Amino acid sequence: MTNVELIKEINRLKAEKNAIILVHNYQRGEVQQIADYLGDSLGLSQQAAESDADVIVFCGVRFMAESAAILAPDKTVLLPEPDAGCPLADTISVEELRKLKAEYPEAVVVCYVNTTAEVKAESDICCTSANATKVVDSLNGSKKAILIPDYNLGHYISTKTSRECILWPGNCPTHHRLTIEELIKAKHDYPQAVVLSHPECGADILALTDEILGTGGMVKFVAQSSSKQFIIVTEQDMATRLERENPDKEFIIPSRKLICPNMKLTTLESVYEALLYNQYKVTVDQPIRDKAYQALARMLAVTN
Ligand code: SF4
Repeated sequence: MTNVELIKEINRLKAEKNAIILVHNYQRGEVQQIADYLGDSLGLSQQAAESDADVIVFCGVRFMAESAAILAPDKTVLLPEPDAGCPLADTISVEELRKLKAEYPEAVVVCYVNTTAEVKAESDICCTSANATKVVDSLNGSKKAILIPDYNLGHYISTKTSRECILWPGNCPTHHRLTIEELIKAKHDYPQAVVLSHPECGADILALTDEILGTGGMVKFVAQSSSKQFIIVTEQDMATRLERENPDKEFIIPSRKLICPNMKLTTLESVYEALLYNQYKVTVDQPIRDKAYQALARMLAVTN
């Protein structure tokens, strides 16, 4: 089928099954265009929690679909590509987190949403890159916070809060592999460009950045900015969205390494097949779900 035919079939099946399609900002351009909601992890969680659809097709990676299944247990959540995982989420296991908690029993655990459901269930509260500092500052009680699993995000938050932060050495390979030389070259080639970087980048990259933002923050910043050129330091298809929504502005990606292979697995074909065959269902077992729900719901309460 051509893309036009696939989109027609996707829309037909969506109406037939009362489904919505939630799409992360890092998805391919053609998948972004079939979104009922296109956004960052925070916005996608909010949409999953509030939707009255029967079926949620999640175009992203597994931890995002799990969050949707936790927040909307009465709905069928489909992940079109069952192998779309997140290497950052895999950097910490529930056993490792329990060990860390035993070492710092007085600390609260703030877990980035890029974690498995089991790890969320062992945490006190979740955060996203959009609300991390706000979440950490909202905590009562302990002066210590364990921030997992992304070291770069954790380090960035630690510079914004007076709370003592215990960090975990996890990284997103997509953001972490950008070198400082690549950013310096892009800044040299485009001296007028505003640099927008995701906090999963290393501290050396963030030090050369004008604005440190999650992907939702980038969308808002660019729409409101009078600047015409931006260096986008995050997954490359973020620029695909920004170009579509801001045709009068120019977006530069400083390195072709800024690509997440897991995010690229989902295609129009796999979304079509997900709706046609009701695949691949993502569920979270009840005891894990109940505890993980608390951590996600606390985050949404702080953010909303
Ligand atoms: Fe995980 Fe990084 Fe890919 Fe996001 S971009 S899904 S954090 S590997």
